Amino acid sequence: MRYFELTEPEDLDSLQWSGSYRAERRWYLPSILCPRCDAWGGMTAYPSVDLSALPEKDELKSGWPQTREEYERRAALVRPFVPPEIQLEPGCRLGPLVGTAMGRFGPITAWPSWQVLVREDALTLIQEAGLKGIIPVRAELRNRRTKELPQYELEARPLAKLHPACIQDRDRVPTCLESCGNHGFSLPPERWLHGESLPTGLDLFGVEGTTRIVVSERFVDAVNRLGPSDVVYREITVE
Ligand SMILES: [Zn+2]
Repeated sequence: MRYFELTEPEDLDSLQWSGSYRAERRWYLPSILCPRCDAWGGMTAYPSVDLSALPEKDELKSGWPQTREEYERRAALVRPFVPPEIQLEPGCRLGPLVGTAMGRFGPITAWPSWQVLVREDALTLIQEAGLKGIIPVRAELRNRRTKELPQYELEARPLAKLHPACIQDRDRVPTCLESCGNHGFSLPPERWLHGESLPTGLDLFGVEGTTRIVVSERFVDAVNRLGPSDVVYREITVE
């Protein structure tokens, strides 16, 4: 099976679709403000997490940096609402996208590249094709074009890892385990997936420690049956 990262188109003059959206998440975990390494947090989003029954949900409206203790307190509030396979992290975004949309959307939209939306007919096709690991959550986007089909965001859980050999020491954030737990890395321009970490049979997943979303060849084939989209598929190898 071949795999592809979703990326934004580079040539903005040849776009097929006019669709764009502005949206926020319902809830956030704060990033961490550390005296040693400043503020840091991830960008992982779990649209399927529903905190509407959490009494303290209004305390989760902002991802503004907080102390590690305050992060831990808020993460503890959220944990009972999150499936055990999801790992919460500082800066996590939770719940559906809520906002407004304009224009016409293609079968798949990945702009920014760390949010993947599919049109309702594309979702049906993906589901009929029996693709695995598809967690659709309806995006709450108001569009004045009433004929526009609803958009569904596909949750990309960070289940795969980059191969350790493609992360250079210079790309690693100095580990700050005593103070705040920061141990990230910056995205290497040349990268490939670690075969042992790859979830078997899944057709869409995220990559741990990055904002990248990866889809299978099967996924690309299914979505392409609805015609062109403004998404560039960049192949990522597995070793
Ligand atoms: Zn730190």
